Amino acid sequence: MRRVLFLGPPGAGKGTQAKKISEEFNIPIIATGDLLRENVKKGTELGKIAKKYMDEGTLVPDDIMLKIIEQAIKDLDSFILDGFPRTIKQAEGLEMLLNKLNKNLEYVIYFDVPDEEIIRRLTARRICPECNRIYNLNFNPPKNDEECDECKVKLITRDDDKEQVIRKRIEVFKENTYPLVEFYDKRNILYRIDGTGDTNEIEKRIKEIIL
Ligand code: ADP
Ligand code: ADP
Ligand code: ZN
Repeated sequence: MRRVLFLGPPGAGKGTQAKKISEEFNIPIIATGDLLRENVKKGTELGKIAKKYMDEGTLVPDDIMLKIIEQAIKDLDSFILDGFPRTIKQAEGLEMLLNKLNKNLEYVIYFDVPDEEIIRRLTARRICPECNRIYNLNFNPPKNDEECDECKVKLITRDDDKEQVIRKRIEVFKENTYPLVEFYDKRNILYRIDGTGDTNEIEKRIKEIIL
């Protein structure tokens, strides 16, 4: 049983590592960004509301996010949270929810990556619209030109992976999300890792912590 949270700036590699750890340990991933993008794609009410925040690089309101997470988490014993919580309010809401469910968060992994590296990574990020696999035109290109190795469909660039929106997201991260490092450090479950270098090396750093 493992209940893990991946914390870090946009582009830190949370999604990439979540996929690897999820496959290795057979733990489901809850990635709120993916959940929101699916709603935008389907044109649901939630999707319509979320899109306007996502496009400008700001956060979807806490009450909406807490409802989403409650639904996603309530029947799971193990999970990797990627992209949630992003505010102290959300972290407090999660804590209350987990208490109610008699579960607790075990590991919060903070991915440390410098700003310039984030911009470099995100401007070259591509994702698969079918399976959410994450690629990078420079570091981790698909085998065939901009096509998912698994699904064979054309990769897309996220609407919010534009330099101007990326800068806004980094700012929002520092202001709203970075304070969670201290929040979880106080609870003695915070582990910092260097998020730069080879993805397999980073995976090893994570496995040493959650093993
Ligand atoms: P996050 O989920 O934290 O936003 P992603 O996992 O989507 O981050 O990674 C952002 C981009 O950086 C993607 O294009 C991904 O392929 C690439 N990437 C992930 N890990 C690394 C790494 N260790 N070195 C270089 N690029 C990476
Ligand atoms: P990244 O890891 O590249 O920052 P995500 O895919 O996690 O991106 O999130 C994309 C966007 O979805 C965010 O910029 C934000 O608008 C919205 N979002 C995702 N998760 C949350 C959350 N927990 N709270 C508020 N907004 C969120
Ligand atoms: Zn795919």
